[in-house]
Amino acid sequence: MTFINPKITPIYQSSVFKFEDLNELDAYFADTSSRYLYSRNGNPNSDELADAVNQLEGGAGAVATSSGMATIFAAILAYCQAGDHVLCAADIYGGSAALLNTELSRMGIAVTYVPFEQLYELAPLCRPTTRLLLAETMSNPLLRVADLGRLAAHCHALGLKLVVDNTFASPMLTRPLQLGADISLHSVTKYIAGHSDVTAGVTVAADAEVAARLKQIGVLYGLTLSPMESWLAVRGLKTLRLRMREHSHNALAVATMLAAHPAVREVYYPGLPTHAQHALAAEQGGGLFGGMLSCKLADDREVVSNFMRRTERFPFAPSLAGVDSSLSYPLGTSHRALTAEQQQDLGITTGLVRLSVGIEPVEELLADLRQALES
Ligand SMILES: *Cc1c(COP(=O)(O)O)cnc(C)c1O
Repeated sequence: MTFINPKITPIYQSSVFKFEDLNELDAYFADTSSRYLYSRNGNPNSDELADAVNQLEGGAGAVATSSGMATIFAAILAYCQAGDHVLCAADIYGGSAALLNTELSRMGIAVTYVPFEQLYELAPLCRPTTRLLLAETMSNPLLRVADLGRLAAHCHALGLKLVVDNTFASPMLTRPLQLGADISLHSVTKYIAGHSDVTAGVTVAADAEVAARLKQIGVLYGLTLSPMESWLAVRGLKTLRLRMREHSHNALAVATMLAAHPAVREVYYPGLPTHAQHALAAEQGGGLFGGMLSCKLADDREVVSNFMRRTERFPFAPSLAGVDSSLSYPLGTSHRALTAEQQQDLGITTGLVRLSVGIEPVEELLADLRQALES
């Protein structure tokens, strides 16, 4: 079968690999990276995904996981044990907060949330047991941008690790490890896979020992990724560079149009010169601002529902970052479980709508939004 010479990695849809004799088995245990044993421990497809993202992020090693949530869990466990304390940016992904509040708290890992304005003044919040800060490159849904270089220096001065959820930016905009972060992680479900057909995650470590620890957590907790999902994610990753350009180009045009529209009260997009961290976002994103934006319509449920019914190119779908546009409603989904006061503090109001701008022809998106905003 030597004539088989595939250009791309085929799907190794096998849970286990064969060994010829005991010498081969011993050779594997002498160097576990020399071949494959069992797919939960490693598989050519999940390794290809992890290696590709590791290379993009400039890390020392990575592990592919079954979801973004699995990857956040692995990252926290890499640094924390019972009795430890973590700091977490207040406007974090809802699932991350739920994981910390309901599960990691049961394992004896405590959390303190840090308002965005206080991210660079962590000393008063630190305890002797504080291990890390978890923050996002760009927050959801208001797209506030963290200064990762400044944050890394601040964390390290306090003896903390910086763990960055880089999902919204993708490595095409921002490479947190190059700015000093210790771990950069992704919900691969979003931009890296990019086609709304995969659930996966990846964690990349700046340090080889931490990468080995992540790998062990993945294997022992059973967080690793299946061959088929890995293969789809690798396929998606190959066009990430092209897609992020189009997402960014389209989102800027949409944000600019919305900002000038009388039915829109406010637009949150780092690419607009009016955004509070516009200069930082431009520098940290290499001139690209990504495909996510939020806008405020009138604080009236009926106005929002009407917009949802009228738009044809932005179906309501509570995820993001696919090639096809979609919209989400933070008050009804990601931030539903918060108290009215927390929602208020985070700026999650009745009129707030989040758009994931896809890579369709931008004139079609603009025309659709214009007609949907007519009352
Ligand atoms: C979606 C998302 C996650 C969780 O990822 P899953 O793949 O759904 O488990 C984590 N962080 C951010 C910023 C996300 O958008």
